[in-house]
Amino acid sequence: MRVNIPINKPIIGEEEAELVKKVTLSGIFTNPQPEGGKWVKKFEESFASYIGTKDAISVNSGTSALYASLLAAGVGVGDEVIVPPFTFPSTADVVLLVGAKPVFADINIDTYNIEPNDLKAKITKNTRAIIPVHLYGLSADMKPIMELAEDNDLVVIEDACQSHGSEYHGKKTGSLGHMGCFSFYPSKIITTGEGGMVTTNNEELADKLRLIRTHGHGREYETVLLGTNLRMPELEAAIGFTQLNKIESFLIARKANAEVYNQVLTPLENAYLPIVPKGYKHNWYLYTIRLKREEAQTRILSELRSRGIGVKVYYPYPIHTMSYYLKLGYGTVRYPNSELAAKSVISLPVHPGVSREEADYITDAVLSVIH
Ligand SMILES: *Cc1c(COP(=O)(O)O)cnc(C)c1O
Repeated sequence: MRVNIPINKPIIGEEEAELVKKVTLSGIFTNPQPEGGKWVKKFEESFASYIGTKDAISVNSGTSALYASLLAAGVGVGDEVIVPPFTFPSTADVVLLVGAKPVFADINIDTYNIEPNDLKAKITKNTRAIIPVHLYGLSADMKPIMELAEDNDLVVIEDACQSHGSEYHGKKTGSLGHMGCFSFYPSKIITTGEGGMVTTNNEELADKLRLIRTHGHGREYETVLLGTNLRMPELEAAIGFTQLNKIESFLIARKANAEVYNQVLTPLENAYLPIVPKGYKHNWYLYTIRLKREEAQTRILSELRSRGIGVKVYYPYPIHTMSYYLKLGYGTVRYPNSELAAKSVISLPVHPGVSREEADYITDAVLSVIH
C-alpha cells in the first residue's frame, strides 16, 4: 500500500452534503442586506458565541477579513501597520491594498510569533495598527501587545486564520484584540470551501464591517461608506455552521496526535519540538519542529516526502525577502529570527485524518531521518 498523508485535509460528512442540497434547492444563495441571509446569521451567531465576542461578521476569505478590518479601522495612506514577516503573505499584502505601509517586527524564535520588544521598537508617530499572527495555532503574547496598543492608541487586528479554538489565559484568540480574523480555507481547522470571519466586541466596528462587506450600501444602491463585495454565500455559511458544531472533536483528534509526537519525538537531539507557554491552549493547527542544523532542511523534507508524508515549510520566504517587497525597498533591514525559522522549520501532518497508526509511522520516519 502506498502511503500518502497530506499536511492537512478537510473533514466533511453527510451533514454538510445534506445541508448543501437543502440550501441549493431553496434557491436562496445570498442576501445583499448588511445583516446577511438566514445561514449567514446562524453561522455568525454560533461563531461569536464560540469565540466569546459580541459579534461575528462573515466574509468570503481570511484575506477579506483582514482587508475589511483595516478598512473598518480607517487605516489608509500615510499609516503604518506593524506585522511579523514570518507569516502567510496576505497578512502584509492587505496593508498595501488599503494604501498603508507594512512595518515588520521580528518573531520570537521559540514561539514563532511577533516579539513584543521588537514591536515596541517599531512604533512611530505614523503607526495606526498592529496585526499579530497566532502562527501554527499558538496565540501571540497578547498582554504586552495590548498594553503597547493602549499606550500608543493603536488598533489590534488579530490574524487568527490558523487559531480557531486556541486560548490565551482562558480567552479564545479572536477575542483578545479589537478585531479577530479567521479563515475557512479547506486546509484550516474548519472549512467553508473559501470563507472568513471577523470577530469583535465593538459595535461600531461591527456595523461598519457589515456595511463594508456589501458595497457600503446603507440602503439599496446607496453607498454610505467605501466597501466592496466580500459577502459569504449562504451555501458556505450552512457548511460552516455544520463544521463549527464538530470543532471540539477536530481539536481533540489534533491534540491526541500532537501528544504522540511530543512524547515519541522527545529524544530528538537535532530538532526543537513546539513549545506551549503556561496559560496557552494550542489548537495544533500545525505541528512544527525546528532543525538545529538548517542545512539539513532540504534533505529531511525530501526523505519524509519520499515516504509519503506531506511535510511542508510554513513559510519558506519571509515577506521582506519576497521579490515584490524588494522592489518596494524592503530587504535592507534584516529579521534574523524570521530568516532562521524559514530555513529550519518543518511542519508534520497532525490533522484529525491522521490515524494512530499513521502518527506512529510519521514518528518512526522522523526519528530515522533526523540524526
Ligand atoms: C490562511 C491564512 C490567511 C488567509 O486566509 P484565506 O482564507 O486563504 O484568504 C491569512 N493569514 C494566515 C496566517 C493564514 O494562515
